[in-house]
Amino acid sequence: MLEESSFEDEQPLSISYLNALEYCPRRFYYECALSEFIENVHTIEGTMYHEMSDSGATTTRDGITTLRRVWIHSTRLKLSGFADIVEEDAGQLTPIEYKKGKMGEWLNDHVQLCAQALCLEEMSGKTIPRGFIFYVGSAHREEILFDAKLRQHTEGTIHAAFRLLEQATLPPPLQGKVTRRSPLPTMHPKCHDCSLEPLCLPREVLFLATHVQEEV
Ligand code: SF4
Repeated sequence: MLEESSFEDEQPLSISYLNALEYCPRRFYYECALSEFIENVHTIEGTMYHEMSDSGATTTRDGITTLRRVWIHSTRLKLSGFADIVEEDAGQLTPIEYKKGKMGEWLNDHVQLCAQALCLEEMSGKTIPRGFIFYVGSAHREEILFDAKLRQHTEGTIHAAFRLLEQATLPPPLQGKVTRRSPLPTMHPKCHDCSLEPLCLPREVLFLATHVQEEV
C-alpha cells in the first residue's frame, strides 16, 4: 500500500514545524532553527493526547483498516514526519490528526493535516480529498476538505519555511494592539497560549525595537 523510501541525500523538514510556522514565524524559527522548546499546559496536554493514538497498532474493523503513527514523506516537498492515524477504506486513504481542545480560529492544524495528505498522495499515487482532525477536548471529528485553496496555502507555507531557514534570521514577534494607556503593545491573542512567550518576550522586544529606532 504505502511504499518505503528514504531521504539519504535530502534534509527534509518535519511536518509538525509547519503547524508552528502557520501559528507564528518566530515560533517556527525558535523551534526548528534554534531547537528551543518550552513546555506549558497546552503542549503537555497535546503530547498526552497524541500518545492515545501512538500505539503503532494496525486494526481492521468493518472493512476499514486503521494504521497508527504512520511515517510519511514527500520528496517533491522535502517533508517527512508522522501521521497520527491513516484510515484505509477500499483503497481510499484518509489522514486523521489528534489535537487537544476544540477547533481554533487559526489554520495551523489544517495546514499540518493537508501536508500529511500531500505526502500520502505522493507515496500512494492516489488523490486524497479529505481528512479529519479529532479534537479531544470536544470529542469532535472535524472534516477538512483538501481543496485547491488549502493545498496552495499549504505549499506556500512549506516554501516560506525553507525561505526562513535560508535567511537565518529570527523573525519579529507578532504585534498586538497599540493603545494609549500603556507604552507596551498589548499581547497578540496567539501569544497568550504560546509556551515560548517567556523566551520570546514579544511586547518588550517590540517596544524596544520601536523606541530604540526613534531615539537613533
Ligand atoms: S510569544 Fe507570540 S510572537 Fe513569540 S513565538 Fe509565541 S506566538 Fe510568536
